[in-house]
Amino acid sequence: MERDNYDIPELIELEKKRQQETINLIPSENFVSRAVLEALGSCLVNKYAEGYPGKRYYQGNEVIDEIENLTIERAKKLFNTPHANVQPYSGSPANQAVYMACCSLGDTVMGMDLSAGGHLTHGSAVSFSGKYYASVFYGVAEETQRLDYEEIAKIAEKEKPRLIWCGATAYPRFFDWSEFNKIARSVGAYLAADISHYAGLVAGGAYPSPVDWVDIVTTTTHKTLRGPRGAIILVTDQGLQKDPDLAKKIQKSVFPGLQGGPHENAIAAIAVCLAEASTDEFKEYAKQVVINSAVLAEELKKNGFNLVSGGTDNHLILIDLRNKNILGKEAAVALEKAGIICNANSIPFDPNPPARPSAIRLGTPAVTTRGMKEAEMKVIAGLINSALEKEADLSAAKNEVLRLISRFPLK
Ligand SMILES: *Cc1c(COP(=O)(O)O)cnc(C)c1O
Repeated sequence: MERDNYDIPELIELEKKRQQETINLIPSENFVSRAVLEALGSCLVNKYAEGYPGKRYYQGNEVIDEIENLTIERAKKLFNTPHANVQPYSGSPANQAVYMACCSLGDTVMGMDLSAGGHLTHGSAVSFSGKYYASVFYGVAEETQRLDYEEIAKIAEKEKPRLIWCGATAYPRFFDWSEFNKIARSVGAYLAADISHYAGLVAGGAYPSPVDWVDIVTTTTHKTLRGPRGAIILVTDQGLQKDPDLAKKIQKSVFPGLQGGPHENAIAAIAVCLAEASTDEFKEYAKQVVINSAVLAEELKKNGFNLVSGGTDNHLILIDLRNKNILGKEAAVALEKAGIICNANSIPFDPNPPARPSAIRLGTPAVTTRGMKEAEMKVIAGLINSALEKEADLSAAKNEVLRLISRFPLK
């Protein structure tokens, strides 16, 4: 493509067209409202506000303080916690602040293995979390591909972690937060739930909230929660560690521990998304995300696809493609040619290396925002099936995708 003369405005238009004309099944993506975009692109981007409301290192923060306080109040109310920090730049820095607040360098920490669906920041050797802390992992049971709480308890008992993470980036089932609570209590660990993927479902009542079971909840704001790129750290009053200073330690870890000036335009956009997420309309949305995911999973199974753990309880699905004789990456590339966007992903105990994983990961948050329902999920399952057949006619599939998507314009 000849784009030598294109500057940013033209490239943004091209990206807008790409988003308009594809079916987005990436479970960590979504489409924000016009109001969220407007807050992000506002004059708030011009302001420095190092510190916290009422305690800033710069003058001129009277309005900014009101904005950040409003965001904090909305976060506390929506998730029902006594403390919220809305300054983390994104999910990874939020998790970093949790380590800094709860652990000393070199402490043992426990999280879900990357290959079982965990996140890089839950102890992976390639991330700060595995480099600066002694990470140990739990996975899923080989047969059921689900969490095995007895096994997790055994690992915790043996390793005595200082901090335990629950939550994942590619686990299609519920987390039983109460089981993690028992485990953390029995070994005296801090317990943190990372609900980055589930936050919108939790807010909408479509996924169990961890708030009654953990010390800390972290979440990104840009996945199912449908806000700007950013993150929130919530501190509960569960007090598993009987640490009355935990909230204070989190505050200090975010600023000045890890960050400088907060992105107040993003914080305002988070306030907008939190207001949206507290409406009945959003509850309907969250419910529909899960219904759509269940229908998509059933239809895929009818087409002979094997799903990790046999199905889904939430917004995401992992297709184990080994019986289809195609690798995850090849499948994701073929689907992209057909106008369906997803990502390759490992399966638990993947016989293939991480660079050539056996699965693709799909999710319904973005298509549900566009207004799609059960009927469209059936069509999409059929499109995925035909696009992944041998000698598939991908341009014919792309035409069908365009026909479907044109009925669901982006607002
Ligand atoms: C997405 C995600 C993160 C990290 O978020 P970034 O904003 O990409 O840094 C952390 N934890 C989990 C479980 C996630 O899914």
